[in-house]
Amino acid sequence: MTEKSEKYYQAVMEHKQISRRGLFRGLLSGAKKTQQQAVVEPFTRLVARPPTAVDETLLSRLCDGCGECEKACPQHVISMINGKPELHLDCNFCTDCGECQRACPTLALSNTCHSTGMIPVFSGSCRRMLYGYCDMCATDCPQQAIDLNEKRPAVLKDKCNGCGQCRTACPMGAISFTLSPITPKVQEAPAVPTE
Ligand code: SF4
Ligand code: SF4
Repeated sequence: MTEKSEKYYQAVMEHKQISRRGLFRGLLSGAKKTQQQAVVEPFTRLVARPPTAVDETLLSRLCDGCGECEKACPQHVISMINGKPELHLDCNFCTDCGECQRACPTLALSNTCHSTGMIPVFSGSCRRMLYGYCDMCATDCPQQAIDLNEKRPAVLKDKCNGCGQCRTACPMGAISFTLSPITPKVQEAPAVPTE
């Protein structure tokens, strides 16, 4: 086991969100099972994060604030704030390219689910709501996560990964973002990069 993965397993084992049942199972069947139990728990980020960031408790343990993800991001949407990576989607969006994950020397960006932790909210200045036409947010959404069946655009939470592309596309500035709980879909352990 590499030093990185050892640190990850240690952090997961001490993760305060692990249920007692999960911990008991983990003790019976090994660290990998406990890790699986931990990563399928829904969680909410404190702020927008790179899409593969682990949950906040693990992040605080695993991220050492080196800033390699910030340097690697081709979209320049990562800023290191208080020693942890935050995403700023005001002027650009995340393409989920994976460069931040590849650059990270720890396992702080090793989540198997991909979500910045944000979800769009549409204000009354939406052109579709005002005048009955416009589909630019839905057309640009790479996840097909915006439903335009009604006059007010609706976000399909299970598809949206909070990338911010719809906000960039909106000519009216009608889209803002709010935090949204993340429910991991993949019930398998995070990939541990080989060295
Ligand atoms: S996935 Fe790519 S675009 Fe998104 S934050 Fe990471 S490096 Fe930037
Ligand atoms: S609705 Fe689409 S474009 Fe907007 S944040 Fe979600 S995935 Fe990205």
